[in-house]
Formats: sequence, structure tokens, C-alpha cells
Amino acid sequence: MSQKLIGIDLGGTTIKFGILTLEGEVQEKWAIETNTLEDGKHIVPDIVASLKHRLALYGLSKDDFVGIGMGSPGAVDRDHNTVTGAFNLNWKDRQEVGSIIEKELGIPFAIDNDANVAALGERWVGAGDNNPDVVFVTLGTGVGGGIIADGNLIHGVAGAGGEIGHMIVEPENGFACTCGSYGCLETVASATGVVKVARLLAESYEGDSAIKAAIDNGEVVTSKDIFMAAEASDSFADSVVEKVSFYLGLATANISNILNPDSVVIGGGVSAAGEFLRSRIEKYFLTFAFPQVKTSTKIKIAELGNDAGIIGAASLANQLASK
Ligand SMILES: [Zn+2]
Repeated sequence: MSQKLIGIDLGGTTIKFGILTLEGEVQEKWAIETNTLEDGKHIVPDIVASLKHRLALYGLSKDDFVGIGMGSPGAVDRDHNTVTGAFNLNWKDRQEVGSIIEKELGIPFAIDNDANVAALGERWVGAGDNNPDVVFVTLGTGVGGGIIADGNLIHGVAGAGGEIGHMIVEPENGFACTCGSYGCLETVASATGVVKVARLLAESYEGDSAIKAAIDNGEVVTSKDIFMAAEASDSFADSVVEKVSFYLGLATANISNILNPDSVVIGGGVSAAGEFLRSRIEKYFLTFAFPQVKTSTKIKIAELGNDAGIIGAASLANQLASK
């Protein structure tokens, strides 16, 4: 029997697991709740217990696996296979992660941050078509990113490489970012960023719009409401999507002018707007991209959805085979 891979997508509310073939096909998947109580001390033991339970259930042993890969939020220390802090897991300082999982399961382990791991997943069997040069941008509560250049994830000297969300796209009058800077892509293209752009544009918009009226009335308006209204021809909402697309087109063109990837893959919750959003980003991308980049780099929407994490984590495990 050919060997398999285990992919783990560790998140603040659920931990997703997958058993995959070496070709990236998901054979089994399951999930457990993330217990973040007591400084998240139950998380690693829960992972170990769930893996042992499932392996026994499927009649599999350590020899059936090449490795275990994991994507984690927070600050990841790849050299020590661990996480040095993750706000949404209640992990305040350095944890024992890889060492415990390897000891308990007897299977080699590798870890990287969740955005990098999702990038690996999309690159491997998703929109990236297994090309060695793929940039992944995830639009969710924040804006994350992962860069694969010449087949390698870019980490940088301090692990902060590929932080596309903090590319400055509005240097003059930008909104404050959680990183301490102003005008980062995340402040205008994350779920909350889209709403901030809407609030700003609402101040000077004079036409009829249900979305503008809702904002002016202090009602809760989400990025999803704005995209849905834009698709239904609300001209104010449309102007918001246009502005957000401008920022994303500018950012993806700037990244591509440096890296000339095969594709820039847009994922995450906001990307559910699909082709409606993609075609607009592409319009601005084509405005700002360098001639050779324009004709060779493609703007795509992610294909793997929620499975990108476990598939990318399995891809990380697959690399252990070549080490
Ligand atoms: Zn920032």
C-alpha cells in the first residue's frame, strides 16, 4: 500500500484533519473543536488523541505515513516545529507542538503559518496548477498572503515574508492598521476594511442607495452585504467594490512586477464574490502591471475553499519525504 500524508489545519474555533494521498487527494477528513481554555493547554493533547483514535479506526499505523504537516495561526518557529504565540489559541508563549506530536505518533512533523500553508494547498492541487511560482492572497477578517517563488515558500529572515496584507496602498490618508502603520492593504480589503471604505465613500455620495442609507442610519453593514448590493446594481455599493478592486489591483500588480508569478490566487471569505470581484481586480492589475507581467501573470480565484488548509498542510508533510 502506498504511503499517505496527514494535514492539520489548526484554527481558533476548529481543528481540521485530513488523510491524503501523495497526489493530494483527500481520503478522510474530520474536525474537532479547538479548546482554548487554560491558555490553550488542551490543544496539542486533543490533536494527539484525535489522531490516535482515527488511525486506530482506519487500521493505519505510523508506517503508513510520510509525515504530518500543520498550519497554525500566530508566530511559527519552523526550526523548532513550534508556535511561539498565537492570540486566537490563547497561546501566550512558546509551546511544545511538533516534539510532542512526533513522540506520540512516531511520524515526522512539519509546521508553517496558516496563510503559507493555504498558499501551498492552492498551489499544489488548487488554482495554482502546481506551478513553482504562485502568489496567494487571502481576504478574510484580515488579509494574509503566501509567496511561492521557484518552488519555495518565502519566509524572510524573521518569518514575516509574504505579508501582503501590509503592503501600503494608501500612503497619504490611509486608515490605521493593527500593525501600527497606515494605509495597509488589510485596512481596505479585509472584511472590515471593505466596510471602512464604504463609510468613507458614504460621506460624499449623494445618490439613492440602500447600503448608504443603512450606513448613515448606523445599521450593521457587512462586506458581504456590500458585494451583494453591488451585484444587484446598487451604484454606491458598486463604487465601494470598484475602490477595493483598485487597491487589490494595485497590490497584485506591484507583487507581480517583482515576482512575475504564473498566477496570483485570491482566496478567503471576501473572494466568495468570485468572477465579479476577479474581473475588476484584473482590470486594475492590467493598468499597473509591467508589459511582460500583463501577458504572463494571471489573476485567479481560489478553488479549494475550506480544504486549502489541510491540503496545504499535507503538501508540507510531503516535502518531508525529500529531506
Ligand atoms: Zn499593516
